[in-house]
Amino acid sequence: MMTRRGFLLQTAAAGGIGLREYEPKSTLRVPEHPVARAKFPVIDVHTHVFGLGRKTGPQDLAQIARWMDECNLQTLLNLTGGNSETIPGILKMMAPFGGKFLTGAEPMWNRATEPGYAKWQAAELEKCKQQGARSLKILKTLGLVLRDQGKLVKIDDPRFDPMWDAAGALGMPVLIHTSDPAPFFQPINRFNERYEELQNHPDWSFYGKDYPSKRDLLDARNRVIARHSKTTFIGLHVANLPEDLAQVGQWLDQYRNLNVEIGARLGELGRQPRTARRFFDRYQDRILFGTDATPNAGKEFPQQDLKPEMFRCYFRFLETEDEYFDYAPSAVPPQGRWRIYGIGLPDGILKKVYRDNAVRILKL
Ligand SMILES: [Zn+2]
Repeated sequence: MMTRRGFLLQTAAAGGIGLREYEPKSTLRVPEHPVARAKFPVIDVHTHVFGLGRKTGPQDLAQIARWMDECNLQTLLNLTGGNSETIPGILKMMAPFGGKFLTGAEPMWNRATEPGYAKWQAAELEKCKQQGARSLKILKTLGLVLRDQGKLVKIDDPRFDPMWDAAGALGMPVLIHTSDPAPFFQPINRFNERYEELQNHPDWSFYGKDYPSKRDLLDARNRVIARHSKTTFIGLHVANLPEDLAQVGQWLDQYRNLNVEIGARLGELGRQPRTARRFFDRYQDRILFGTDATPNAGKEFPQQDLKPEMFRCYFRFLETEDEYFDYAPSAVPPQGRWRIYGIGLPDGILKKVYRDNAVRILKL
């Protein structure tokens, strides 16, 4: 008897193809309604126009501004603006574009192990606010990268309490990324639904070593949200649990200061279109449009490459009831081998998600 694995090897040896070369073309004939331009003006609250090592210049901003007009994007919020030393330069570059670009601030992680950090960081955030920063972004650094004497620093470590409180007092929402997709916490084997992506980027895996579980990370984040009820939190990537919208719904019921953003998670939302649609109905005042848009993200991250095609995937998902289409502009789906279905939101909800919730929550 041939095992299943043996059979696959034999067909490859007999001239079959490997998974990497497999690019099936759908033979379905279903109506297609690509959306070139959003139906209503859009605010994207999750972009990395600056930061993350990118050297964005005035020419890049001019190109992005043209794309924004083309797609009906009113404003992009750059979350990775850094600190009081980098923010003024970024604001200066953004100034000629009349409100099209806004920026947020980030904590200075490299000082987190210094004595007096807690108070210093709170004061630093106030300085950033005075300069014009709108928000505070927390990368997955907190929980998965930042270490003190070799040990990973917990998300709810009390040294950050003054910072969370300052964000609340200053009216700066905290946009927080915690953990990562569920498959990144599972073994990289044939049962992993993002096997190919993890094969290409084994360093994205947080399985094993001394990493906490995804659940532990999210629980620690939720304790911060509970402890700082006067601070507004925006859980990025559907509060980093798009795999379980029922659970995210429970959190939204429980924590009135929590909202969610949908960036780079069309691949999850769009393969549960009925559940997602009910989620958008129920939490229509607490969901913000975001994409994680990053200039020149390239082939590596087509789902967040800051280009019109990328935004159009979101428009099609939110506005149409199209079936079985790509969640990213690339030949092979980058995050997993599946396609998505639109949820056809009515105008009232669309306006809130595209813009109005961001205006209210970010006090724009
Ligand atoms: Zn991001």
